[in-house]
Amino acid sequence: PPVVAVVGRPNVGKSTLVNRLIGRRAAVVQDTPGVTRDRVSYDAIWNGRQFVVVDTGGWAPDAQGMAAQIAEQAELAIGAADAVVFVVDTNVGILDDDEAVVRVLRRSKKPVLLVANKVDDQRAEAEAAAMWNLGLGEPHPVSALTGRGSGDLLDAILDILPEAPKEAVAEGGPRRVAIVGKPNVGKSSLLNKLAGGNRSVVDNASGTTVDPVDELVEVDGTLYNFIDTAGIRRKVKEAQGHEYYASLRTQGAIERAEVCIAVIDASEPLTEQDVRILTNVEESGRALLIAFNKWDLTDEERRRYLTREVERDLVQFGWAGAVNMSALTGRHVDRLGEAIEDALQGWETRVSTGKLNAFLGRLVAAHPHPVRGGKQSRILFGTQAASAPPTFILFTTGKLDPSYVRFVERRLREEFGFHGSPIHLSIRPRE
Ligand code: GDP
Repeated sequence: PPVVAVVGRPNVGKSTLVNRLIGRRAAVVQDTPGVTRDRVSYDAIWNGRQFVVVDTGGWAPDAQGMAAQIAEQAELAIGAADAVVFVVDTNVGILDDDEAVVRVLRRSKKPVLLVANKVDDQRAEAEAAAMWNLGLGEPHPVSALTGRGSGDLLDAILDILPEAPKEAVAEGGPRRVAIVGKPNVGKSSLLNKLAGGNRSVVDNASGTTVDPVDELVEVDGTLYNFIDTAGIRRKVKEAQGHEYYASLRTQGAIERAEVCIAVIDASEPLTEQDVRILTNVEESGRALLIAFNKWDLTDEERRRYLTREVERDLVQFGWAGAVNMSALTGRHVDRLGEAIEDALQGWETRVSTGKLNAFLGRLVAAHPHPVRGGKQSRILFGTQAASAPPTFILFTTGKLDPSYVRFVERRLREEFGFHGSPIHLSIRPRE
């Protein structure tokens, strides 16, 4: 994934901003010179796109030669990055140390987003606008502390990131499917079952090129491109330390896929790792189908218990389709084709702006947002900004309670489906 470096002199709020970008609310790290942290890069996902954020906030230049050191560190980070977020402190204004970074940025020719941080009011807004004269393009006013402007900033970051590497199979080619799950749940057995005698249908007649680690497999008469089957077939030993690489590989497969079949061993208690993989699929914005495998090993009691586990730990994936199956006996393997298609359909659903707003109008009238501090937020208007996965922007008069957002999502699903797909709601309060 592309790399975004966050640079700037100490105390401008880089670490707080990084926390915003990666979606962590709790841990606000103080940008104190002298504090070094062991982790400098974090995975971030926004609108289904993954990127890596490099935090240079923990780097501590010593007192003398500050500007030179900041410039040097910035140079290192910038050199390794695909795009740079340059943070300045709007309250303090531009100092020599900032200028030192600006010079490095100009030389680097990397795409740069200028972030005017600590913009908490109108006055600061005006100060931020003055940052135009740095010659780095439009300043993006944000308050890393409150989160103000951070959604727009994330959108802007996606805009300047280089396009994802070209997919192995062109648009319009076979759909890309990833089989994911922890070791020994039966991924490779499932793949073998699905491929059956159809394994060598791979041909280049249609002009499709397939990545050597992928495989074209026909399911129910439809050709699918199964992602990273080499990783599934080759029994990657899950030795200590390799787990990290295994999870990177899984993440990579998820990113390349359109739809993921998450395999879970139904005969064993559900684990955190199962939930983590499902969460990964959701956060990556891919369509999801859950395969409860090894059904042949479950008895009445285990199934009852599994139902409870699902109700307790998988409620947040209630939108996903599920198939109780056995790769060993072949039970319900024949249902997967239809389930894959169903998930892809939900993933690509488009709702017209007219229909969406008719629905939102009814919803808001029947279920207004609760009054908070004497004010009542209201959804003014909505639009579907993207599909695959369905992504909605809701323009509102103010902030919405998270529980209200979940309620809106639930109603959207009841109204329009999106079965098998995560949906993204982006709330834009009018300021
Ligand atoms: P992977 O690591 O997820 O690819 O798992 P494998 O496909 O290698 O399966 C792990 C073990 O579970 C093997 O011994 C399989 O034979 C067994 N297995 C896979 N699916 C089933 C199933 O549906 N029922 C039963 N009873 N065993 C299964």
